[in-house]
Amino acid sequence: MTKRIGVLGAGGRMGITVCNAIHEDPDLELVAAVDPVRAETKLSRLGGPTDLVIQEDVSSFVDAGVDVGIDFTEADAARANVPWMGEHGIHAVVGTTGMDDSDIDTIRAAFTTSNCLIAANFAISAVLMMRFAELAAPYFDTSEIIELHHNLKIDAPSGTAIVTAERMAEASSQWLPDPTQTEVLPGARGGSGPGGIRIHSVRMHGLIAHQEVILGAEGQSLLIRQDSYDRTSFMPGIVLAAKNISDHPGVTIGLDAFLGL
Ligand code: NAD
Repeated sequence: MTKRIGVLGAGGRMGITVCNAIHEDPDLELVAAVDPVRAETKLSRLGGPTDLVIQEDVSSFVDAGVDVGIDFTEADAARANVPWMGEHGIHAVVGTTGMDDSDIDTIRAAFTTSNCLIAANFAISAVLMMRFAELAAPYFDTSEIIELHHNLKIDAPSGTAIVTAERMAEASSQWLPDPTQTEVLPGARGGSGPGGIRIHSVRMHGLIAHQEVILGAEGQSLLIRQDSYDRTSFMPGIVLAAKNISDHPGVTIGLDAFLGL
């Protein structure tokens, strides 16, 4: 049966790309688009697929009969919109980053009759990169993460970098302490993530989303690198999630379960 989709953040960089990907899939129907900054604008004026008019508020999902809401907004907006979808029995696929554990707890409490997927990265190559880093972690004693994003990203480090470090820290507790005694330039060693794994954030015009995980042990190192060259890289994962969210009860973190990993 065709699933009725609503997109939150529809006027944003990710949102408009998601609207196009949903429209192109014969099993999904784009029935609502929300973005307060672009309210009353037709999607087609922003490069979107149809003349659907963007609405100001998520409450428009009720009249539109949305089955699955897809959120690519900003953390403050998702903190309100995502629990609202749970309270109204609407499944949610969430890509917005910058939320913390207490936000996730609030979301878990709200999804009692519908399901929610929160994924820091919908690019299947990135999901595999995180899995490979987790698998490699027990065989190394030092690791650092370098994440590289476009120059307009407002949070740092990326959600993907934090999740990668969390998973590596869970997979191994044998990380050597940072030897640095004097940080001549404050911040030179990046941020200390889960397990003490250092995370470095690069923001640069021309980039989209990229990450390197470097793992070292005596006499050897391993470099795992993932690149999203275009926002379309996220679309197969988002479409897969929208189609299958009703089969994954409760709140799922990460796309892995949807890929059978
Ligand atoms: P963007 O700034 O281009 O778009 C965000 C849009 O959300 C804006 O148009 C804004 O007006 C809108 N918005 C703000 N408040 C809203 C509300 N209450 N309701 C509806 N819309 C609202 O940002 P972007 O580059 O599209 O990224 C959006 C989010 O997606 C960020 O958190 C980013 O980190 C994340 N992201 C995640 C993935 C992933 O795979 N999980 C990939 C890329 C980006």
